[in-house]
Amino acid sequence: MKMSKKLMVLPGKKPKLDRRDPAATPGAEGKQAAVELVEKHTKRMAALQYLLYAESKRAVLIVIQAMDAGGKDGVIRHVMTGLNPQGCKVTSFKVPSAEEMRHDFLWRVHKVVPAAGEVGIFNRSHYEDVLVVRVHKLVSKDVWSARYRQINAFEEMLAQNNVTILKFFLHISRGEQKKRLIERLDDPTKQWKISDADFSERRYWNDYMAAYEDALSQCSTPWAPWYVIPADHKRFRDLAVSQIIVETMEGLDMKFPKPSADLEKIRTTLVNSV
Ligand code: ADP
Repeated sequence: MKMSKKLMVLPGKKPKLDRRDPAATPGAEGKQAAVELVEKHTKRMAALQYLLYAESKRAVLIVIQAMDAGGKDGVIRHVMTGLNPQGCKVTSFKVPSAEEMRHDFLWRVHKVVPAAGEVGIFNRSHYEDVLVVRVHKLVSKDVWSARYRQINAFEEMLAQNNVTILKFFLHISRGEQKKRLIERLDDPTKQWKISDADFSERRYWNDYMAAYEDALSQCSTPWAPWYVIPADHKRFRDLAVSQIIVETMEGLDMKFPKPSADLEKIRTTLVNSV
């Protein structure tokens, strides 16, 4: 069975996060095999990105969401190393600026959706507006609960305009998060990443899980599916994400455009020239 089939949240269904094991590694055959497969997928992705760019008919948008220390940065680094930076852009969504706050929540998102021929990666996304915003009651329930429908309509419009959307939730356990945060405390090369919020947010774990449960069940659609990636094991996480990207891009049936120039004429001219 394809990885994308295995890990997709079926539209209209609940992801049942509490019943999904974040330490699962379905279909994987050990660490070394996973590392080799990720390498293979990375090369394949580079070739597919080249084709996407050459064709310039559609864009690919990859949304990555996770709890703190869930591995967003790691996935972006490992999985995307093969991509050509010319046609690929990562956008990180932070607390909205004063200007962004004066607009609707999708304003800052729409502006950075990749153009035809490009791959765009969202490190966090418009989903923060039904996650952190809901957990911390930054707007009323009326406001955030209307957003699922608004997000679906927005993503449907993008899909109808040739944006292929893939959304990954990197699912780690609370225990694994604790382990990673403690490792950070002890690692001088990672201490800079630590914020007070990472630790205080842990108290809201169950609220976040409830918010993710709703976001994933309400917004996994045929045009923009959510995938729940078991992410306690980093190698498996990278393997699953890279495999789903490759499977999806291969399904796009992309073709190199026909050359616009008369190649035979150019060949003859070139051959006969000095
Ligand atoms: P990251 O954790 O992604 O590496 P930061 O430590 O800068 O990066 O965290 C970004 C913060 O911005 C997160 O706490 C996230 O919840 C917050 N954020 C993102 N989008 C929104 C939003 N729309 N409203 C409120 N907070 C947001």
